[in-house]
Amino acid sequence: MTNERRRELAERAAAVREALAGAAKEAGRAPEDVTLVAVSKLHPASDVRDLAESGQTEFGENYVQEALAKQEALAGLPVNWHFIGGLQSNKAKYVAGNFTLVHSVDSSKLAQALHKKAASLGLVQDILLQVNIAGEVQKSGVPEKSLPRLAEEVLSLKGVRLVGLMTMPPFFDDPEGARPVFSRLRELRDGLETRLGMRLPHLSMGMTGDFIPAVQEGATLVRIGTRIFGERPPRG
Ligand SMILES: *Cc1c(COP(=O)(O)O)cnc(C)c1O
Repeated sequence: MTNERRRELAERAAAVREALAGAAKEAGRAPEDVTLVAVSKLHPASDVRDLAESGQTEFGENYVQEALAKQEALAGLPVNWHFIGGLQSNKAKYVAGNFTLVHSVDSSKLAQALHKKAASLGLVQDILLQVNIAGEVQKSGVPEKSLPRLAEEVLSLKGVRLVGLMTMPPFFDDPEGARPVFSRLRELRDGLETRLGMRLPHLSMGMTGDFIPAVQEGATLVRIGTRIFGERPPRG
């Protein structure tokens, strides 16, 4: 069973990597500029171990407690953990220092909490700012118009380092529907680079249903769960 699952995960991830590389080449980009973050939320730690066997190093998690339990169960496994889910600032202390990159920073309160914890540990937490581009009320992410101010504020916090932007478009039946959201995130990033006078190398965008247009529009990190691990079991 384990061997079978291991082979299945390796094959699916390889197919995704191939599709990512194809989309990158089509867009005139280097395949190595696109990193696959395998989103393992709600899947067992054994799946992470199995997929890591095939060389996958980046894993994304949404829920603090679940993520920390997996990290503990898999201590010593050479993988990098990405925090990609909604995060309340009172839980930031469990996240700072335990993840390679936090993709989902969307408020000054959260940035400050991460900064405070990271600084107390004597380290710098890499972060992305999550932008709510389509302006959906129920979605997390900073509204476009508040992005420049939040970015400037974050730059003054020594415990965090801003390395780019993340977005999660609304669901479209046709992945092409998400393309304008991805190109808008790239424009916002370019504008911020000019405004702040610094490089913001990362664009975290693209999931199972829409990663092709995301890569064509400049994604450097794609967050893919279902296409690799299959349907997620319900939470709880
Ligand atoms: C769950 C999740 C993903 C992965 O979604 P799939 O459709 O399963 O690929 C990516 N990003 C975020 C923020 C998520 O919560």
